[in-house]
Amino acid sequence: MSVTERKFKHVNYGWDNNKADKLDPVERLVYRSNILGNDQRITNTGGGNTSSKIIMKDPLTGENVEVLWVKGSGGDLRTSKKENFASLYQDSLIKLQSIYNGADEKGVKTGIEDSMVGMYKHTIFNLNPRASSIDTPLHSFVPFRHVDHMHPDAVIAVAASKNSKILANEIFGDEIGRIKWQRPGFDLGLKIQEECKKNSNLKGLILGQHGVINWADNDKECYELTLTIIEKAAEYIKKHDKGDQTFGGQKFKQLSSGYRNKILIEILPKLRGLISGKNKFTATIQTDEKILRFVNSFDAPLLAELGTSCPDHFLRTKIKPLYVNWDPQSEDPDSLIKILEEGLVQYRNDYAAYYEACKHPGSPPMRNPNPAIILIPGLGMIAWGKNKSESRMAAEFYNNAVEVMRGAEAIDEYIALPRQEAFDIEYWALEEAKLRRMPPEKEFASDIILVVGAGSGIGKAASKRVAKEGAHVVCADINKEAAEETAKEIINTFGFGIGVAGSGISNCGPALGLVVDVKNRESIREMFSQIILAYGGVDRIIITAGIFVPPDEKGYIPDKKWKQTFDINVIGSYLIADEAKKVWEAQGLKGSLVITTSVNAAVSKKGSLAYDTSKAAANHLVRELAIELSPNIRVNGLAPATVVEGGSMFPRDRVISSLVKYNISFSEDEDTEALRNKLAEFYAQRTLTKSPITLADQAEAAYLLISDRLSKTTGQILNVDGGLHEAFLR
Ligand SMILES: [Zn+2]
Repeated sequence: MSVTERKFKHVNYGWDNNKADKLDPVERLVYRSNILGNDQRITNTGGGNTSSKIIMKDPLTGENVEVLWVKGSGGDLRTSKKENFASLYQDSLIKLQSIYNGADEKGVKTGIEDSMVGMYKHTIFNLNPRASSIDTPLHSFVPFRHVDHMHPDAVIAVAASKNSKILANEIFGDEIGRIKWQRPGFDLGLKIQEECKKNSNLKGLILGQHGVINWADNDKECYELTLTIIEKAAEYIKKHDKGDQTFGGQKFKQLSSGYRNKILIEILPKLRGLISGKNKFTATIQTDEKILRFVNSFDAPLLAELGTSCPDHFLRTKIKPLYVNWDPQSEDPDSLIKILEEGLVQYRNDYAAYYEACKHPGSPPMRNPNPAIILIPGLGMIAWGKNKSESRMAAEFYNNAVEVMRGAEAIDEYIALPRQEAFDIEYWALEEAKLRRMPPEKEFASDIILVVGAGSGIGKAASKRVAKEGAHVVCADINKEAAEETAKEIINTFGFGIGVAGSGISNCGPALGLVVDVKNRESIREMFSQIILAYGGVDRIIITAGIFVPPDEKGYIPDKKWKQTFDINVIGSYLIADEAKKVWEAQGLKGSLVITTSVNAAVSKKGSLAYDTSKAAANHLVRELAIELSPNIRVNGLAPATVVEGGSMFPRDRVISSLVKYNISFSEDEDTEALRNKLAEFYAQRTLTKSPITLADQAEAAYLLISDRLSKTTGQILNVDGGLHEAFLR
């Protein structure tokens, strides 16, 4: 560890000359951004931006020009690549000041300020398509080559303290100034420029309630300055830490993790139903010591009510969380549900009142008035988002907010952003435009879909098919490793998402592998508990788990095998539906269930007596459940004919015995795949469409049946068999 590295106890020092010195100036900026973003204590996910002013050859004139490379809109510093940065002519950006200054009405929140954002396009260097961030002028107008703007909890704590001006001076000295809260934009850029003019020794500014911006002509120096500022703030907070008296001390005791989970499993589906309207929400729960220290404290209700400070935080967490006034030591879970219901009504009323009090003529219409963060003493935090990634982000940002409050309360008194300022960010025309620009949501973007039998064959194919439409997929299978492998493949294809928060299983991505034994109700119950703790509920279920027990050489199926066949193919599906029913009833949301049966249900033939009979029973189970689970849940059956592809149902010896049975010539030297193709082709020729039936065909049908595309179809069986006239249902 170098002397410099040793200086930092509260942040990770990441600069490595060996790496940086091999890079060109733009790559050095990307490098600096990545190592800054890599530490949550330096900045939150997606928060902050960095820039370098670099001399480059103009593609039009061949002359050297100064180009501002600045992190563009969206993206995250930790994972940013070159394409996440905008490149703009620095002199053109400076010239925009004369347009701005020439306006009749100027200043923060004036029309000209917002319209300047559109002008950045006129300054683009080398046709770089990355959209510029609203923070662009904060970087351009600072007369130094490198600028970092971060949202460190420790610095925001100082910036959100009642006496932040005095504190900032005490902690950082004269080199770092302070500027009071102002919404980011052109005018804030000008104010920072003004501060630089007034004091040429100034190295940075604490931005009231928001974060820090600092600069240097050398990039490594700029990086180390950022770390030094955070280090000083964190050390100061540490010195003033209140220990046991943090947040006024602990009012409630912790609950045992077993009891805590039991309550969470009980309330989450109900809660999910209560806050989901047209759009459904996904939960991330956090129950660790860190969040419980806040939630269980004396000051939590008051601090929670004040709301968050940094704009990044409250855009995700809403203006304030719902703090639930429940005493985990003396009140039971039933009373919690009642208190939650009342709390939600109150929250929505408060939100509507906030909207009404702060709105301007032309403000966008009121958005979803439900809380994004729910704090429950004894239990912890439940964060909600339109998908897992969003709920994890909301949770991450409320952790930031708690850290800010902890720091501010340790050194002084926490001051939230004024409501009107919060509103003017939340309902800013530019924010609204950003929301409108977002691509339309995928079909299953807010759905939690359980696939039972996801480890192989049709289940695996169906899991991937619904994941492609944006679903959160719980991949369950008797084979745990196979289930986890399917989930892993989905995450590798579609990404884990962003946000760093959540405890235990709730810290999962958009796909999750779980073990389940469909013969065992307890095992099914445990699976649903895990799903609820991971996502908050479940919307749709595809069951593909099934078993084919061949008769012995004499064509006989022993009693035990009959039972096994019915236990898995019929009773297993019923048990899943019966356990799901409790979750579905608590949620009160629309959903659907698909049970995989078989064309054999309608075609009697030699050699599969138990299997065919069980599938006929499964067909009728579909019809019974359609009635049982109506009106919210549709139930349909998918009836495949033999899918040879994939091999899970067709190991080599079964393929060979089938080839022998049908008198198809083959050689023992041929590999299994070639033999499978031969058999598949034989089956294909028996169908009306003359083509082999694939896993993709089955997955497509499962997707169609589970989706709302067939929203008026329930209690039906869909054959996917290439056309077998003897399987026609009459
Ligand atoms: Zn910022």
